[in-house]
Amino acid sequence: MNIEKIVIHHSAVATWDNNEQFDAIKRYHVYTKWWGDIGYHYFLEPDGVLKNGRDEKYRGAHVGRYWNDRSLGICLAGNFNKQKPTRVQLLALKELLIDIKSRYPKAEIVLHRDLKASECPGANFTHKTLEELISGVSAVDFGLMKRFEGKYIQRVRNNIGQVYRVDNGRIVHLPASPSPLFRSWSDELEDDGKLIGITEATWDKVKKALI
Ligand SMILES: [Zn+2]
Repeated sequence: MNIEKIVIHHSAVATWDNNEQFDAIKRYHVYTKWWGDIGYHYFLEPDGVLKNGRDEKYRGAHVGRYWNDRSLGICLAGNFNKQKPTRVQLLALKELLIDIKSRYPKAEIVLHRDLKASECPGANFTHKTLEELISGVSAVDFGLMKRFEGKYIQRVRNNIGQVYRVDNGRIVHLPASPSPLFRSWSDELEDDGKLIGITEATWDKVKKALI
């Protein structure tokens, strides 16, 4: 599938009624709706435990035919019209989104109601919730630059080399060129363990990895 969206849902079942919901929802989807599997690709219980639903290579059943063909579905247990997602659930969601985005960097993270007439994932899960969740997440977290952590990036712009260091997921510009580090570099990677040369195209990708 060509994954264009990552869609967030709630189960619409309050966790005080059931605090471990994956099995019940899977049974409902399989034995009542006669689907091949639970409709979502990932499911997050209130204690932050991630449960795998459908394999990513299979189309989900969570947002209507058109978008099912082009998205992955993540469901959080809870009725977020009546309660809020738990802190550990949100942290687990963040981890999961980082992981998925590292594989599908262009996919947009959306709420179910962005794509279909629906309240899902509830009034207490808004775009602000999502923004707060991912605002501290950098390109490095999204995997494109994981390999660069702790290393120097040499970028040549207007025929002048510039060096950056990737520190805890942040790109730090080093105004003074640490010249001993400079080596001749080819088009893409020259990785001596510390210094990596990147093209402008890669540089753009790295910056665009930020949502
Ligand atoms: Zn939904």
